[in-house]
Amino acid sequence: MAPTPERFAKIMRVLSHRQPTLTVLMDEVNKPHNLSAIIRTCDAVGVLEAHAVPPSLGKSAGSLASFEGHTYEATSGSAHKWVPVQRHASGLEAVRALQEQGFQVLATHLSQRSVDYREADYTRPTCVLLGAEKFGVGDEAAEAADGNIIIPMFGMVQSLNVSVAAATILFEAQRQRLAAGMYAAPQLAPEALARLAFEWAYP
Ligand code: SAM
Repeated sequence: MAPTPERFAKIMRVLSHRQPTLTVLMDEVNKPHNLSAIIRTCDAVGVLEAHAVPPSLGKSAGSLASFEGHTYEATSGSAHKWVPVQRHASGLEAVRALQEQGFQVLATHLSQRSVDYREADYTRPTCVLLGAEKFGVGDEAAEAADGNIIIPMFGMVQSLNVSVAAATILFEAQRQRLAAGMYAAPQLAPEALARLAFEWAYP
């Protein structure tokens, strides 16, 4: 069925704000509601495509099924339809693949080289690497990343919920990109924008 003119205008508006050079990599994030919340934030900020290493069954039995299952879809507020998630076999493989595509990978990880997340330049092609609830970002992936960032914490608890950390950092990226005029003109190439508009209009 053909979309209404209003629906088509909305699709064009959303696609013209998509940021193909901003993404996240979820490294074995295993709770479906956290995955969903991160995807929903990605949609709000304009992430075109997200990346994930599905949780290994060894670490959390049954969670691979949840990754693909109804819980994920039901709690993302339909955002999963608009932000495809590309799967990778391991955190390290994903980091290298994204770096080859020109992304700086910023691991949310406490280390000697960690800096306040607000010091990073998110106007560059950037992937924010997020870790599992229990284990955090894997050491190999954190070391291979171009930088390590943290949200400063002053409370009794040492870490934030992963979806809260993702939102905090992605909205800083949005703030910097708005200031740089990166939402003022489409970041997608005209052919890619037209193809996606067709796909979204005629699902
Ligand atoms: N025990 C884990 C560890 O040692 O890393 C805690 C993981 S935390 C609950 C889950 C994820 O949320 C982290 O891997 C990171 O991606 C993100 N996160 C939580 N608090 C953060 C902070 N203060 N700064 C940056 N990222 C944070």
